Parts: sequence; C-alpha cells; structure tokens
Amino acid sequence: MLTDNFGRRFYYLRLSITDVCNFKCNYCLPDGYQCDQPRDFMSLDEIKRLTSAFAGLGTEKIRITGGEPALRKDLPEIIATCKQTPGIKKVAITSNGFKLPEHLPQWLNAGIDAINISIDSLDPRQFLAITGHNKLDTILKGIDMALADGRPTVKVNTVLMREYSGSDIQSYLDWLKDTPVTLRFIELMQTGDNQKFFDAQHVQGSRIKQNLILDGWLPVIQDKAAGPAQEFYHPDYQGRIGLIMPYSKDFCDNCNRLRVSSSAKLHLCLFGENGLSLREQLQCDDIEPIQAKILSLLGDKKAAHFLHDKLTGGTKHLAMLGG
Ligand code: SAM
Ligand code: SF4
Repeated sequence: MLTDNFGRRFYYLRLSITDVCNFKCNYCLPDGYQCDQPRDFMSLDEIKRLTSAFAGLGTEKIRITGGEPALRKDLPEIIATCKQTPGIKKVAITSNGFKLPEHLPQWLNAGIDAINISIDSLDPRQFLAITGHNKLDTILKGIDMALADGRPTVKVNTVLMREYSGSDIQSYLDWLKDTPVTLRFIELMQTGDNQKFFDAQHVQGSRIKQNLILDGWLPVIQDKAAGPAQEFYHPDYQGRIGLIMPYSKDFCDNCNRLRVSSSAKLHLCLFGENGLSLREQLQCDDIEPIQAKILSLLGDKKAAHFLHDKLTGGTKHLAMLGG
C-alpha cells in the first residue's frame, strides 16, 4: 500500500491523459488552450504499465481527467485498459461533457463506473459566458441518458464563483429535487494564471454549508477513505450535495490521491512543483522499476498545500493536471 510519512494512504490515482481542452472556462483557460510545449502524451502501452504498477501498490480507483479527456480518440481503449487492470475496482472520468450523448455508449461499453461532469451554471447564457460554449442542453441530455442507463454514478462539479453559482444556489436546489446526482460545489482555487480572477470571484463554501444545515440537509457518514469532500443529503431531495473546500482547516489531512500528468509526471500534490518524471521507467513491461520510483518519490509528499500563502507551486491552471 502507498503510504506517506504522515500515515495517509493513497488508493486513488487521478490520471490525466491530455492537457488539451476545447472549452475556455474563465477560471481555468480563459484564452483557450495554448500549445506551449511539445505534445508527448502517454501512449496506451505506457498507461497500461502505469496503471498496473499503481494497482500493484494498492490503488483501487482511477479517475481519467485532462484537459478534456474526451478529445483523445483512444479514450474508450484507455477506459477499458484501466478497467481490466487486476486490482482496479472503479474507473471514473471527469469531463466537460461536450458530446456526452454521443460518447456515453462507448464509455459504458468500455466499463466506466462513474462520471463527473462540470456544469458551472444551469442558466444557458451564463454557461456560455463561463465556458465559451453553448452546450448546456447537450450536457444535460447526456446526464439524463446516464441516469436512465443506471450503471454509472453521476456527479456534477460546480466551481463556486461570486458572480455565478456563488449567488444562485436555488437553481441547483430546484434541479436536485428530482435529479439523483451528487452536485459538488468546489471552492475556486488560485492557480498561477488566475490570480486577479480568484481575488474577484472566490467565495467560501462554509456559508453554503451553514445554510444547508439550517435547511435540514444532513451529513452523509463517510468512511475514512472517502477523501476531502463533505457530503449532505435531504429526505425531500433525490440529489445530494458535496462541498470541496480546499481552503478549510485540515483539508489535506484526508488526502487519498496521487496524480500523474499526461506527460507521465507524478505530482504529489495539485499545487506542488513541476512533477517527477516516470517516463523512463514506463518504457518496458517490468513494473517493478516503476513501483520503486513511485515509492522513492512519495517520501517527498508534504503535509499540506500552501494555498493560504498564495503559493500555487508549478500549477498555472488545472487543465495541466486535471484538478
Ligand atoms: N475538462 C474536464 C472538466 O472540466 O471536467 C476535466 C479537467 S478540469 C481541470 C477538472 C475539474 O477542475 C473541473 O470540474 C473544473 O471545474 C475544476 N477546476 C478547474 N480549474 C479550477 C480552479 N481554479 N478552481 C477550482 N476548480 C477548478
Ligand atoms: Fe477545459 Fe475543464 Fe479547464 Fe474548463 S475546467 S477549460 S473544460 S480543462
């Protein structure tokens, strides 16, 4: 089992398969994707070796992310590869869902277990203003298809921004009345590129949490391995609400995840430095050297991030790493 110097166990891998994205989310890539380094994404073979190495060290869950992972043509093969790796119990994806109705059947055939879709506003005009794309209806249709299929769990990620979701929680509550998804409000995080935006738009999740509790929402009792999200349910609502509050006290105490970028760099923290390359070890089928490298690097994992001091490490935006 992967365990760090602070006793935290890492059974969860966030695997970025590309840093390219077609959206222009105002908090992430406001000017769209800029190709400022050579494309050297991990191949399917490299991904296969990497996931086998992690699974051999106790990893049970893999989340495929990006950039926008659905821009990779071989995404169904990547999902199937992760799913078929002995020891991996759950394969999830985080996507902007730009073609969800078209992509969903392929993802389901490949064995996807959980789908997280990012929707930062339920108002089509605001959605367009935030992402640069008029895709809300398509995405909601895809979510309905996933719910009707019944196999994958469906979560929706919403970044809290003062101007949008931060001031319009009611539309989400109305939606959750009859929609059995878990909606996760994520506090906007500062990155290297978004400092001004962050200063103008950051709102704390704690206010939402207080209001939910006043309105009768109850905390879901989660097991220790559940990670840093806090989740709530309400007997009158089919959906649940999660809060991800990276600026809250002790947020990093429950860290259960490691990250690998699309160029095969291990990131011990979302806001660490530039990543530690596993590329050389990924060139042959023997997974022991890959495992030895991961274990030797894990000792450098810090107790917590330094976001409170406005230190964002090497992370210019989260499309680099997948959030
Ligand atoms: N493109 C996919 C998507 O948007 O779902 C996957 C990659 S995206 C980087 C992963 C998640 O990070 C999304 O839910 C996105 O909203 C969130 N995210 C990106 N930048 C963020 C920031 N500065 N603060 C908080 N969440 C952010
Ligand atoms: Fe793309 Fe996701 Fe970043 Fe939006 S949040 S720009 S969809 S990577």
